Amino acid sequence: MTDPSRNPMLVGRRGTLKLFAAAAVASGAGALLSEKTAFGATQFHLTQVRNATLRVDYAGVRFLIDPMFAGKGATPGFEGSANSKLRNPLVDLPLTVEQLADVDAVVVTHLHSDHWDDEAAAILDKKLPLFAQNDEDAAHIRSQGFQDVRTLTENTEFQGIHLAKTGGQHGTDATLEAIPALGQVCGVVFSHPSNKRLYLAGDTIWNEHVAAAISRHHPEIIVLNAGKAVFPGFPPIIMGEEDVLAVHKAAPEATLIASHMEAVNHCVLSRAALRAYSEEQGFASSLLVPADGETLAFK
Ligand SMILES: [Zn+2]
Repeated sequence: MTDPSRNPMLVGRRGTLKLFAAAAVASGAGALLSEKTAFGATQFHLTQVRNATLRVDYAGVRFLIDPMFAGKGATPGFEGSANSKLRNPLVDLPLTVEQLADVDAVVVTHLHSDHWDDEAAAILDKKLPLFAQNDEDAAHIRSQGFQDVRTLTENTEFQGIHLAKTGGQHGTDATLEAIPALGQVCGVVFSHPSNKRLYLAGDTIWNEHVAAAISRHHPEIIVLNAGKAVFPGFPPIIMGEEDVLAVHKAAPEATLIASHMEAVNHCVLSRAALRAYSEEQGFASSLLVPADGETLAFK
């Protein structure tokens, strides 16, 4: 990267900022952001928590994305999927659930248990504004006691931030037909005049939905669920390394962030393998692969 404004920074616990090259951030030690008010609205901070769970501090508002709060090994692996004898989650949370629950709003891209689990539903404040992908998911979350559940649209506003729901598909057409429980999923684009546009693609493979979101919203930062989750006999149901490369080709100026890795049983792509692939294919400088607990900052 030659444009310093595109370089992400690591944020230390005391709010000190250090400039790093993208590759250094990707391999650096985890850093946690603990002070909600330690930064201005012209930066945004994104913490890779675990699996698809992210904390996003955007334009002064703190969002929690796809909270899965279960402790390591709490549930059996997903039946019929790769490595299903392993118990989920594979690793512990890097922050306490109390720290994670301290947010202004929650976004749930879909109801699979690695994105919205009973522990999160039990712990989160029932008055928190919570955004669901459709009315059906919203009704389910309301039935768990949440009082302010809203359905995302292409034109949702929250505290001055524009949230645009995007499409996605949790596998190929044939896979969805064979495994209907994969169901509907969504992504979301965050935009605000003071921050870079952030696109969370959600649990989708590379397809026309992702291409459409990129050409419509021109995101500058794109989070990809890139752990290559597999049910044997079918193509992957979320992105793998080739999907990430396809996104890079569609959005060559964007910084890509790989999430949903090394935390649930059926994700077969390691962070190291994705990094190595990005180096072989010449796009390592556009890709960040944060560790769980690592916070990235974008100017
Ligand atoms: Zn998932």
